[in-house]
Amino acid sequence: MPHVDPDVLALLALGEPVASEAEERHVAECSDCTGALDTLRATAAVGRAARSAEPLLTPPARVWDGIAAQLGLADDVRPETADLRFGSSPAGDPPAPATPADEASPPAPVPIAERRGRRRLPAAAWLAAAAALVAIVIGIPAVLSVLRQPEPTVLAEATLEAFPAWPDARGAAVLEELPDGTRRVEVSLDAAVGDDGFREVWLIRDDASDLVSLGVLEGSEGTFTVPAGVDVEEFSLVDVSEEPRDGDPAHSGDSIVRGPLT
Ligand SMILES: [Zn+2]
Repeated sequence: MPHVDPDVLALLALGEPVASEAEERHVAECSDCTGALDTLRATAAVGRAARSAEPLLTPPARVWDGIAAQLGLADDVRPETADLRFGSSPAGDPPAPATPADEASPPAPVPIAERRGRRRLPAAAWLAAAAALVAIVIGIPAVLSVLRQPEPTVLAEATLEAFPAWPDARGAAVLEELPDGTRRVEVSLDAAVGDDGFREVWLIRDDASDLVSLGVLEGSEGTFTVPAGVDVEEFSLVDVSEEPRDGDPAHSGDSIVRGPLT
């Protein structure tokens, strides 16, 4: 027998018991049909998962136009809602893709047996179209979540106290963690500084036995990424130093402000 109709495969993938015995036997023996069914099941599962997370969006008509153009489909070929629905709840189904304006009402559902007699699209075309639509529906929330600014979590804060040589200086630091695990320190410094040197931000071990440079503070505020592997429980002192332009990367010993992260 010929391969099983893609509509039947799609409904089987959604768990609808629509296959005849002959069709079931064919699917069991035909690797093409089994493969197509597996792909459709995976697509349906992805669709369900996406649907539980975010409301499905109706793609604009040009989305289908693009798919049709890429697949070389005739103008009057449009996806039928039943083929692209994920699941079967009547309340939350995505609306059908737009129909041409001159069509007064959407076509009524046609029983599966009747539809089998009609000329069908090749299975590959349906799979590609379904996959493209799922990619679009899933892709939109994914893009939005990337565009959304990540919300940092404040891990600790520090009040930075002036050293005797810098009696009017004061500062503050906030240690934050981003959702991806990146830690960063936001430092602000209020100090009368000269034109000669530059200011550098450091994390210093609580017993002052070691330190790590976070970078140069330009102006009065800066955000610095804490290098991976630096234990901020240990390196818990935030320090801002005045550094001469002498090419020496070590701490000058001229700290302006310092304070513990708590
Ligand atoms: Zn087959």
